[in-house]
Amino acid sequence: MTRSAAAGYTDLVDTVAIRAEGLEKRFGSTPALTGVDLSVEPGELVALLGPSGSGKTTLLRIVAGLEQPTAGRVFFGGEDATFVPVQARRVGFVFQSYALFKHLDVAENIAYGLRVRPRRLRPSRAEIRRRVADLLDLVQLGGLERRFPSQLSGGQRQRVALARALAVEPKVLLLDEPFGALDAQVRRDLRGWLRELHERTGHTTLFVTHDQDEALELADRVAILDRGRIEQVGTPDAIYDGPATAFVAGFIGESVRLPVTVTGDGLHIGQHVLSIATTVAPGPASLFVRPRDLVPAATRAAGLPARVTGVRRAGPARRAELMLGDGLPGIEIELPADISVARGDVLAVQFRTVRLFSA
Ligand code: ATP
Repeated sequence: MTRSAAAGYTDLVDTVAIRAEGLEKRFGSTPALTGVDLSVEPGELVALLGPSGSGKTTLLRIVAGLEQPTAGRVFFGGEDATFVPVQARRVGFVFQSYALFKHLDVAENIAYGLRVRPRRLRPSRAEIRRRVADLLDLVQLGGLERRFPSQLSGGQRQRVALARALAVEPKVLLLDEPFGALDAQVRRDLRGWLRELHERTGHTTLFVTHDQDEALELADRVAILDRGRIEQVGTPDAIYDGPATAFVAGFIGESVRLPVTVTGDGLHIGQHVLSIATTVAPGPASLFVRPRDLVPAATRAAGLPARVTGVRRAGPARRAELMLGDGLPGIEIELPADISVARGDVLAVQFRTVRLFSA
């Protein structure tokens, strides 16, 4: 991409904030969204992350204007866009299987949104040619403009889809699992590429994914949805290191939930009591443990006894599988290089981080 080409496109970008307020959506008796409030700052990339059926696509479609909310409002900047028709919202979309026009070549696909404008809003032919050339450079597909979609790889097709979405100078960009149909390596490559593109063009972007690595790597902030509600919105670090709810703690990262009881003495885990200060109310609670949350204790007395049920290699790290008590699920910890343990050993472990929520 040449500098002038990027400037050519980015000069046109005008970004606005997106604000959803009190959104509700029911399909018959199915509540798809309940009380959803979300703000996306101008130029920010926010990922909507959640399990299947949590309402991500419904929220994106309401912001796009493809779906009407049962209640609530959507603002683009200061403008109430709730009842603005989709054609007038100036949104760019890319879907998982964005159907490019098979009979149009790459350049014609990108130009499509400009060519179908009413005459008075349509740029001149020369202007359209210039914009297509800028966009081809921007999505790094220069030289492929005369190819047809069937002559492109999946990743190249999605880049054409993105160029096509950008051609109409959208105020916001809405992406629904745009890399969902691609294989893992291509997905990873496109992730980095999209982040760079976003940094260059600066569109306010909402990105739906159910892939947490993708969300945490790409987004400025992540909104976690579950059953139609937003559980937490925060930076990837805040979400990963400080889950606000039991759902987020269990959903993000590799964690095991241990059923525990909080009493005045501390935390009861199986037969053991761990004296820790917590703000969680006495009673049954859930403790979420990731492999890095536990470390071998300095002294036996300082730790919880745990039986080693296996030791294995996990990439660069060594992990021990531990049992903290009968009836409790096994957990894994990362072992420091200087500790050698074998199956059957009893290890004293202590928590580095405690993620505890009322059950
Ligand atoms: P996925 O990751 O599987 O795409 P999602 O998080 O995007 O899921 P949505 O597609 O928004 O979830 O669906 C939310 C809920 O609304 C689900 O229970 C779904 O079955 C329901 N739903 C979505 N669209 C419709 C529809 N047109 N008619 C009826 N129910 C619908």
